[in-house]
Amino acid sequence: MSKAFQGRHGRAYLFSNVVNVTQGPIEERLLITGMHTVCDIQCSVCGSVLGWKYESAFEESQKYKEGKFILEKARVVLKRDGDGDGGATDTRVVGGSSHSDEESE
Ligand SMILES: [Zn+2]
Repeated sequence: MSKAFQGRHGRAYLFSNVVNVTQGPIEERLLITGMHTVCDIQCSVCGSVLGWKYESAFEESQKYKEGKFILEKARVVLKRDGDGDGGATDTRVVGGSSHSDEESE
């Protein structure tokens, strides 16, 4: 199983804070690491979906992600001050994968 966060367009990154985003409705989403309560985050300028925020994790081992944000690399310009901060695993899969559900549009 991959050790990198994976977004729809490649690697994604975990952030403890992001700015200039608006949060979408909270929903439960089954990710590869288990069930999470998440909400999509959108650019407050152009409205494009940048990633999502973990509101809560059901699995004890995933609790460290609560309140943090996933940004998908292809969607944002990042200040690269570290290549993935912390050995997290998650995959957001679209297009008929059998091991994860994709709830967003
Ligand atoms: Zn934007």
